Amino acid sequence: MAGRTPIYEGKAKTLYEGPDPGTLIQYFKDDATAFNNKKKDSISGKGVINNRISEFIFERLTEIGIPNHFIKRLNMREQLIYAVEIIPIEVIVRNYVAGSFAERFKAEEGEPIGGPLIEFCLKDDKLGDPFIAEEHIYAFDLCDPVELEEIRLHTIRINDYLSGLFRGCGIRLADMKLEFGRQYDETGYPMLMLADEISPDNCRLWDIKTGEKMDKDRFRRDLGGVSEYYREVANRLGISTGMNTMELVEPEEVDTDIEKKPTVRKAHRKPKLASRKPGKK
Ligand code: 5GP
Repeated sequence: MAGRTPIYEGKAKTLYEGPDPGTLIQYFKDDATAFNNKKKDSISGKGVINNRISEFIFERLTEIGIPNHFIKRLNMREQLIYAVEIIPIEVIVRNYVAGSFAERFKAEEGEPIGGPLIEFCLKDDKLGDPFIAEEHIYAFDLCDPVELEEIRLHTIRINDYLSGLFRGCGIRLADMKLEFGRQYDETGYPMLMLADEISPDNCRLWDIKTGEKMDKDRFRRDLGGVSEYYREVANRLGISTGMNTMELVEPEEVDTDIEKKPTVRKAHRKPKLASRKPGKK
């Protein structure tokens, strides 16, 4: 990565300047963190597997018309993405009781919730990503009701599609966290786009037959076998992670051909609101 300019250092990913204006390179690290950074480790190969899984999922979502930031995978650990203004809301969608939902409501992990349930958290590590209501979103001017409705509709569609995709390979999608951003066109109109990643780092994935956890809870709860289970998720999706082959391009050899982006359906556009304060990434 020598010579590249990092523009954002996240816990599991780094963003670098892209080859063209309006693009970025998203680098997947092996670093794993949990409990608001209190638990940290490095899981060998995690970044490589998540890069592949996220590529696979974003490509499928492009096929069903979900506008998203993914352009193409560049190499083992990097993707070319559109630069978007991240909306600082973590959108959580739950199908089964787990994690913080189980704790808050003293509910039994594994119980079906009875339909997708959407929650919002403020994306702010210093505050520990607190839960927020729709009213907080408007009070903090994070987005307006039209954009939030669009976020909800995309979230339900993504959850529905991915629940079926995972079910088809024997995996239950218990919950997941999504992030959205805005790409502005030349006239300044924002287009909503799915951003970040979708991988076992931000989904709860359970083996349907055995109930075994195949996601970041293996790290959070010291269950072991993190990269083995992540690789099993990739295998079941039919993705070769290629981790033992020599033909892989090293991260420094960036292929900057941007012309391979499949057409995405244009999201509903609306005038840019004068009052909107851009979210910070
Ligand atoms: P919970 O609120 O139960 O801890 O998490 C719900 C879902 O969102 C889980 O799939 C979890 O992995 C994901 N999630 C929540 N917060 C974060 C976060 O800050 N980072 C990541 N990668 N995933 C998160």
